[in-house]
Amino acid sequence: SSTGFRQVPRDAKTGLVGQVFSSVASSYDVMNDLMSGGLHRLWKDRLVESLRPFPGQQHLDVAGGTGDVAFRVLRAVRAAEVQERLAAAAAGRNSAGGRGRPPAAPASSAAAAEPSGREAAQQSQQQQQQPGPSSAGVAGSLVPGRVTVCDINPDMLRVGQQKAAAASDLAGDSGLSFVEGNAESLPFEDASFDSYTIAFGIRNVTDRPAALREALRVLKPGGRFMCMEFSTVTQPGLRELYDAYSFAVIPRIGGLVAGDAGSYQYLVESIRQFPDQETFARMIEDAGFRAVTYENLTAGVVAIHSGFKL
Ligand code: SAM
Repeated sequence: SSTGFRQVPRDAKTGLVGQVFSSVASSYDVMNDLMSGGLHRLWKDRLVESLRPFPGQQHLDVAGGTGDVAFRVLRAVRAAEVQERLAAAAAGRNSAGGRGRPPAAPASSAAAAEPSGREAAQQSQQQQQQPGPSSAGVAGSLVPGRVTVCDINPDMLRVGQQKAAAASDLAGDSGLSFVEGNAESLPFEDASFDSYTIAFGIRNVTDRPAALREALRVLKPGGRFMCMEFSTVTQPGLRELYDAYSFAVIPRIGGLVAGDAGSYQYLVESIRQFPDQETFARMIEDAGFRAVTYENLTAGVVAIHSGFKL
């Protein structure tokens, strides 16, 4: 196609969702800020903090849209890699000193000195191992992390690519890629990722059990699934207030800012129809994930669900 992204087959609901996101793509980021009062940034920060990014992580962000979550994950993975290299360098210096070696020489002998640093990095990595998404383990010290943004909508991906190109720390990072694909039938090999996120995306997917099975398929054993989605507000008083806000205010902001009240009406209705925290947790378990938990943010306006492929 002229977009550079391959065409993904879609059913009727998926086609409708496609129109909605094509219509909102260019104003999507500013709308998120307006509708959530900036809260979506804190929610996404929390998602990535809970994911605990690590060196060498191979991460997939599905329904990644304009890249908000993916960019956060990649920045955190790169920061973890820098930390690891610093720790390895320090450990290498210490062990070299301990064995009475001369201080590491520059240039030609640097490569020869590398294995001791690497061994130290592996040891520190192993000591830090936690249950969960750590199949990278030793390999994490050797292979740079990668983050793949997958979305069904080429217009959203294009905005994401433009954002990445404009960000000095992401522009030259070959570990970031954008792939057009449907969450229900992902264009990736089995067991290819350490972790999978889907933020404000699964609500739009027609066959959610299929999307969850696909998440399980593309994760490596030990890999982690995390989903952030609008959920059910737990406090009764707040629930009515939130309902009134979303039905009365959000389509109006959508009409004024994005020139498209209808798309935002759809978004509000899709939030209401989404299963509550417990029901969605059971769906994740039914797909085959284990150790499934969730955390409510902002009194349940948003929930983060987590599960492992064990
Ligand atoms: N994750 C991003 C964020 O948090 O800012 C974007 C969320 S946006 C509300 C929802 C995204 O889901 C849109 O980019 C849309 O194109 C995508 N989407 C909808 N249905 C999809 C599907 N079946 N497969 C993959 N992506 C889908």
